[in-house]
Amino acid sequence: MGIAPIADAHSAKWWEAAADGRLLLQRCNACGARQFYPRAHCTSCLAPDPAWVEASGTGTLHTFTVVRKTPNAAFADDCPYVFAIVELDEGPRVTTRIVDADPAVLRCDQPVRVVFPEIDGEPVLPCFTPEEA
Ligand SMILES: [Zn+2]
Repeated sequence: MGIAPIADAHSAKWWEAAADGRLLLQRCNACGARQFYPRAHCTSCLAPDPAWVEASGTGTLHTFTVVRKTPNAAFADDCPYVFAIVELDEGPRVTTRIVDADPAVLRCDQPVRVVFPEIDGEPVLPCFTPEEA
C-alpha cells in the first residue's frame, strides 16, 4: 500500500500503536479536547503535551472518492482504492482508506470501523471498513 510512513517525534507513538493494531488519539490534559493528527500541543487551548488515548475505532464515513488513476508510481498498484475522511465517534476526522467494500455501495454518514490490513505480515496503516448492517 503505497509508501512506508515516516514517523517524527510527535507521531512515533501513534505509528507504534498502529503497528500493534491500535488506533490512538490525543486528549488534552487541560481542556479535554481530542485531536488527530498527533501534535505537540492542544489545538483548542494550546496546552502542551496532550495525552494518548485509545480510540473506539468506530465512526462514520464523512466523505470519500475512488482513486482510479494516480501520477504517483508508489500508489499505482493500489488503484482503484477508496480515499476517505472518517469522523471518529470521539470527534476528530481521520484521513484514511476504506477497504473490503464495494465503492458503489458506500455512502456518506454510514457507520465504519477501523481495521488494520497487513503489509508484508505487518499492520501499518489504520483503514476503515463498513460496519455490518
Ligand atoms: Zn486543550
